[in-house]
Formats: sequence, C-alpha cells, structure tokens
Amino acid sequence: MPPQHPVDLPDSRLAALRGPRPPQPYTARKITALTANPACSRRAVLDAVGIDKALLAQRMGYEPRFGQSPFALAREQAFEALVKWGGYAELIRLLREQLGIPVEEAGVTDLNEVGGDTSLARRVKETRGLLTRLASGSDERLILDRPLLTLEVAGQTAYLAPQALTHRVGGKFYVAEIRSFPAIDGQANPTAVAQTAKQAAVSVLALHRTFEELNLDPEQIAHEFLLICPKDFSNRPYGRLVDLRQELDALRFQLTRLRRADDLALALPPSATLDTDRDVDELDSSVGALDASYTPDCLSFCEMARYCRDEATTCASPTRLGGTVRNTLPGVDSTRTTLAYLDGVHAPGPAEAAAIDRLRAAERLRRLRRGGAA
Ligand code: SF4
Repeated sequence: MPPQHPVDLPDSRLAALRGPRPPQPYTARKITALTANPACSRRAVLDAVGIDKALLAQRMGYEPRFGQSPFALAREQAFEALVKWGGYAELIRLLREQLGIPVEEAGVTDLNEVGGDTSLARRVKETRGLLTRLASGSDERLILDRPLLTLEVAGQTAYLAPQALTHRVGGKFYVAEIRSFPAIDGQANPTAVAQTAKQAAVSVLALHRTFEELNLDPEQIAHEFLLICPKDFSNRPYGRLVDLRQELDALRFQLTRLRRADDLALALPPSATLDTDRDVDELDSSVGALDASYTPDCLSFCEMARYCRDEATTCASPTRLGGTVRNTLPGVDSTRTTLAYLDGVHAPGPAEAAAIDRLRAAERLRRLRRGGAA
C-alpha cells in the first residue's frame, strides 16, 4: 500500500503543471518502471509532477492496458493482513524459520501511524529514531511494520514503506516483502519474483541512504530480502530469502542516469499543463513537448506506452522497432528518410553513411539467401 498522504512537491513549477489534483506519490513499483527507461524525460517529469498517468493516457484517448487489477490489489492486501494477523504470528514464524529469530523475543512496532498521526513527516521521524536505536547496538527484538523511508529520485523525495523490516538478526537488518503470487513446490513465477526483487531493492537502497544520513553503518543491512507468498494452492504463508546484489547495483546505476525532473520541467513553455482536467489539445501539446524515449519494452511498464508508440510511428522513429534496430542504425532518426536514402532519392550525410551501408549489405545478403543476384 503506498503512503497515505500526498507528497509535498517543493517546486512550484511542478505543482503548477499538475493543477489542483493531489499528487500521486512515488512507489517502489513506479521507481523500478522509471529506472527501466532512464533516458525518458517525459516519464521523469510526469512522475515528479505526481500525475495519474493512467488517467492522463485515458484523457488523451489511450486506455492503458496493464497495471494491477483491483482484484489483485485486494488479494495482496488480504494476504498481507493474514501474514500479520494474530499478533504477526505468521510473520514471526517465517522470520524464525528463515532467520533464526527466537520467537518469544519478537516484538512489533506498527509505523502505519505514530500515536494516531499518519503524516509522512511523523512516520519518517519515528522510523529514523527507531533505526538509530536498533542500529546502535540495542538488542531489542523488534519488527517494524511499514517503516517509512525516503529516497531521492530525479531530484524529488520518494517515500517508501516496505511491508516489514526486521531488527538486527545476526547483526543485519532485513526487508520483508509480502506478495500474493503462489510458490508451488517452493518455486514462484520467476518474472513475479524478479519484479518483487527490483521493488525490494528500492526499499533496501532507501534504507542504505537513511543509514548514511544517520551516520549508521550500512554494513548492517542485509543484501537479501525475505519474500513471503502463499504456499502451493493454500493461503499458508511461505518465505525464502532472495539475493539482491545484482538488482541493487543496477538500481544505483540507473538512478544516477535520471536527470533532474524539475530542470526538465523548466524547459516547457509557460503555458504548458499536465492537469488532467484540462483540454485534450492542451494536454497533447504539453506531453508532446517532453522528450520521450520510446521502446517496445515501454508497453510492459508504462501507462503512456500506447500514446508514445503512436507518436513514434507517426515520426517513423526507428525506436518503434526496438533497441536492436535503433542500435544498429546510429545517426538515423527516421525510417522514412532511410528508405529515401536506400532508394537513392537523397544522399546520406556522413552521420548516416555507415548505417545506410550496413542496410545495403543486409539487403544484398537477403537477396542472396533467396537465390537472387548479389
Ligand atoms: S511509454 Fe513513453 S513516457 Fe513511458 S517510458 Fe516509454 S517513452 Fe517514456
């Protein structure tokens, strides 16, 4: 469940672009999608502004065709409630089995609220206070339920609430993520596990940043997380540790490639708007003014994908055909122009010459394979 309170965006330009609707917060899911295409300024600005991208795409005539269904969300919340039901009995059992926590010593602090206060600032402060106490050597056996961590993403503060975080077990803190996809005979769907690992890496990285800011030793953070999901076809929770080192390295690298979203937003004309209640033409010209970096992979993670795909088709952008084609054709930004070069209508410039030679060679090979003349 994402943080309950909207994130305050300090930058008035971003707030003005968003309009009167409350901003949507960054979530681990959003951050992993953002880092899947770090070259895309459009998505960086839309996320920093806090726009509901599904609604924006819909307003512009492109119904997003993916995303978690309300049914899947409800199932995930019900399973999380089951894992934490009865004084966190199942969570404690799994921690005992996987990490060796003596069950009688486990205690829980619920950080969904602090004394009835659910504000982000209060929850972050309380989380930091507890982490400082636990990381400094106190031997309390404590589970933090929904601790609130912060992470800077493209110049904005993201607030992240992993489903649980353990106290030091064997000197290490562990993030726990609860998902409703099943593990059959100890094997869960590899794609779902990979996706969860990326999201867990976001939380673990946020924990690293928090430790650094509090002058605590980040060596105390485990590079594994505890994945909890239903066992076989029952609702019985099952847990296993998943290594995150690869995901953490990739995430660190991708985050450094994200350009500051507020700088990108400043390049928009003063009349630009991303307010989903405004006229479709206004939205279209504002979204169109943000540089996109479409690839067919966008269809699997971005609500704007069908809009961006049509735009890439209209511009005859080679990116429409995927990363392999784009990388094979450096210097070529339109397949229409490329055909004109191949047909001899125009002569390619020095930037395109190598790519056009390669295409001619490929065409010659193709003809040879089909039994034609070279
Ligand atoms: S679909 Fe569009 S906005 Fe989304 S990441 Fe791809 S290019 Fe960027």
